[in-house]
Amino acid sequence: MNPTILRTSTADLYDAHVLKNYARPALTLVRGRGSLVWDDQGKQYLDFTSGIAVSALGHCHPYWVAAVQRQAGELIHTSNLFRNPNQGELARRLVGHAGPGRVFFCNSGAEANEGLIKLSRLHGLEKAGGVEGKCYKVICAKSAFHGRTFGAMSATPQEKIQKGFRPLVPGFAFAELNDLQSFAELVDDSTAAILIEPIQGESGINCATTEFLIGLRELCNRHNLLLMFDEVQTGVGRTGKFFGFQHAPIQPDAVSMAKGLGGGFPIGAVWIRENAADYFHPGSHGTTFGGTPLACAAGLAVLDVIEREKLLEKVTFNSVAWMAALQELVKDFPSQALAVRGRGYLVGLQLASDPGPYLAALREAGLLAPVAGGNVIRLVPPLTATPEELAKSIELIRGVLKTKA
Ligand SMILES: *Cc1c(COP(=O)(O)O)cnc(C)c1O
Repeated sequence: MNPTILRTSTADLYDAHVLKNYARPALTLVRGRGSLVWDDQGKQYLDFTSGIAVSALGHCHPYWVAAVQRQAGELIHTSNLFRNPNQGELARRLVGHAGPGRVFFCNSGAEANEGLIKLSRLHGLEKAGGVEGKCYKVICAKSAFHGRTFGAMSATPQEKIQKGFRPLVPGFAFAELNDLQSFAELVDDSTAAILIEPIQGESGINCATTEFLIGLRELCNRHNLLLMFDEVQTGVGRTGKFFGFQHAPIQPDAVSMAKGLGGGFPIGAVWIRENAADYFHPGSHGTTFGGTPLACAAGLAVLDVIEREKLLEKVTFNSVAWMAALQELVKDFPSQALAVRGRGYLVGLQLASDPGPYLAALREAGLLAPVAGGNVIRLVPPLTATPEELAKSIELIRGVLKTKA
């Protein structure tokens, strides 16, 4: 097929038929392998977008492809009205990482967070002696991002996300990240839970400090609140530990995950600690597509590869030199690059101005990276990215900073 015709027609099809809720660059991707993707013109890119931290194993990892192909020929979907072996096994493996408890499978990050929010309501019900509507408040961070569904959006206090969709779901309050006092001040008899991201992804790669997380745990213990982590972006190895909260010596009550879990196959999950998991009983929650044999085969393949290829160790090790090289950029281009933040392969380079033109120049130079809030270029390579690929990203960013100096 003539690639020019293909591109024109894809652009035309999007122009004519796809909802205009994304501002996209004129780029059509057609093939991927490892950390690389190719567009319909045959141009190669280093893909440090990874489908927004989703393609944990890079593109088309042979082990993942084989597992998904095998399962697709065996059994794809059965609903949750029956058991399937893969769901049981993936639940066992996630409990092994998170701690004693149970897992609910769903299809996206927002849906996983809806599960957390519903859990908080059931905990509040228990706290209020079974009286509904008395204890339901969830305290979240200002500048949090929890998703686009109504509950998750209501927990996301950003004008650009909530605008036009009010009235929102009531029962959310917002405090300052890393300011324990501001969380403590919002706790009252109606409070059921605290929900935060260990590292805020969408709003600019802002890390919760260890002392803050320890303080939140103590606050929750004191007031019988659930401590719930949105690990949709930080989970499944992204920060060099399986979960982002594991950098702190604490144990949460519930965790949501999604993005990296399926390695590109849509899947979400909620882990809930023992006892709290018993708030749910038959009929109290559900989802048609959650935890299918195929989705769980994809998840199991991701966990297998993380173990077999020692990806947590590699992410931890490789990111040290990479972060140091990014810090060098901040030193060499102080008027353009202000700071580096993050952990493992979830890193943000904060610029002094709108990252848009920089990201366009990086695309031109052959690097794909997404934006995050606060003028931040987000770098989320696949967990399989090699030291050479990380170094290549530095070279490309340095080149762009130089031309724009
Ligand atoms: C992406 C993201 C979500 C939303 O996930 P979707 O799959 O897009 O619904 C929620 N929370 C965090 C921290 C995220 O990064």
